Amino acid sequence: MEEKLVKEIPPKSENLSQWYLEVIRRAELADYAPMKGMMVIRPAGYAIWENIQRLLDKRFKETGHVNAYFPLFIPESFLKKEAEHVEGFAPEVAWVTKGGSEELQEPLAVRPTSEAIICAMYSRWVRSWRDLPILINQWANVVRWEKVTRPFLRTTEFLWQEGHTVHATFEDAQEEVLRILNIYREFIENELAIKVYAGRKSEREKFAGALYTYTVEALMPDGKALQAGTSHNLGQNFSRAFEIRFEDRDQKLKYAWQTSWGVSTRLIGATVMVHGDDDGLVLPPKVAPHQVVVVPIYKAKDKERVLSFGEKLHGELKDKFRVVYDSREEYTPGWKFAEWELRGVPLRIEVGPRDIEKNQVVFVRRDTREKFSVPVQELTPRADEVLERIQRELFKRSEAFTLENTREARNYQELKEIIEEKRGFVVAPWCGREECELKVKEENKATIRLIPPEGENAEGKKCIVCGGPAKHIVYFARSY
Ligand SMILES: [Zn+2]
Repeated sequence: MEEKLVKEIPPKSENLSQWYLEVIRRAELADYAPMKGMMVIRPAGYAIWENIQRLLDKRFKETGHVNAYFPLFIPESFLKKEAEHVEGFAPEVAWVTKGGSEELQEPLAVRPTSEAIICAMYSRWVRSWRDLPILINQWANVVRWEKVTRPFLRTTEFLWQEGHTVHATFEDAQEEVLRILNIYREFIENELAIKVYAGRKSEREKFAGALYTYTVEALMPDGKALQAGTSHNLGQNFSRAFEIRFEDRDQKLKYAWQTSWGVSTRLIGATVMVHGDDDGLVLPPKVAPHQVVVVPIYKAKDKERVLSFGEKLHGELKDKFRVVYDSREEYTPGWKFAEWELRGVPLRIEVGPRDIEKNQVVFVRRDTREKFSVPVQELTPRADEVLERIQRELFKRSEAFTLENTREARNYQELKEIIEEKRGFVVAPWCGREECELKVKEENKATIRLIPPEGENAEGKKCIVCGGPAKHIVYFARSY
């Protein structure tokens, strides 16, 4: 039984996709709902989301943002106001056409994103330069009718946050877009321990209706990139479509400048993929639902003594950490070890009769399996130190893997070979023409994931596809 629990997960290195689905199911992060493409986020998965929410929300508030909530439904006519926006989202919009048994006069879209309804409200709220900026975020669900789905990474309904801001000038909006991009990068690296690259999307890959889209991209263990968050400069596209105008200091009526930005429950999928191993989840301590598990080990004669000692440890630890005391009698210690390893708890503390005699406990790291004794009087500071080290080392591992799998290609043949044989990011100059971008996509299934800030200028370089003068140095990759 103990053996079985672990053995049924296929090795991560052999079949990432199968491993991913099994780990999510067995660690009870999510389950398939009866409707196609939809999932239930179970308590163990939702607890990770709550930690993500808490840590991100704090950063949004610290930078002046406030939360609000807008309706789930968007009238068809609103969605159609911004031409590129409707074109981009039309294939995946779910529609409500009836209320009870009555046909609606105008169909309502279930929001695929909320620009259309939020901009309609902003057009009422914005009058003067004194009303700006508006810095609103909402935590919500959205629906996109996807054909191919995968838990957390792509589901028909998902949870996210979407920020929607309004500014008086292009510069203010651009500053906001980059501020958020930096928050996303810093958050994903420091809290989720995942290395990301940040940069701008190409015209082809940008958000429908945006002027510019910025992105953070992470590398998954199979060498495919995952878009982990986006921040859009909407320019005046939506303010013109929705009549968001304000009287400026010079008393002239002007269209406002806007941004929108979001990250979703997809971040949970990225965290699972990047850190997990053959035994299950490996969660970064900062977002792990349980950071520490205390497991008492005893024979019948020591039971009372060990259990009360374990209780005492738990009492001390719980002031500082998210800790669970597993004193269940119906399971063996070995079964519990496998169970908590599967669930990715970063630090296990074992205590048995001999440890009590020596006034010590045994620490076992989930990530490295490293096992060592710690004097009881140092329990809390050492646990703190070990958790911080795990957090740091998980990031370092992700960073090293990402850097190792970021390669420059000198010519098109080399780009093809890297994408085919090694995957990862391929760094190369590009002329800026969609034709060359499409050729790479069609022949290699790789897209431009981002144009990094240092790649905005590629003077003197030649496009890796056509050999013409290059405009940018870009990162190509296959992606999720
Ligand atoms: Zn070219």
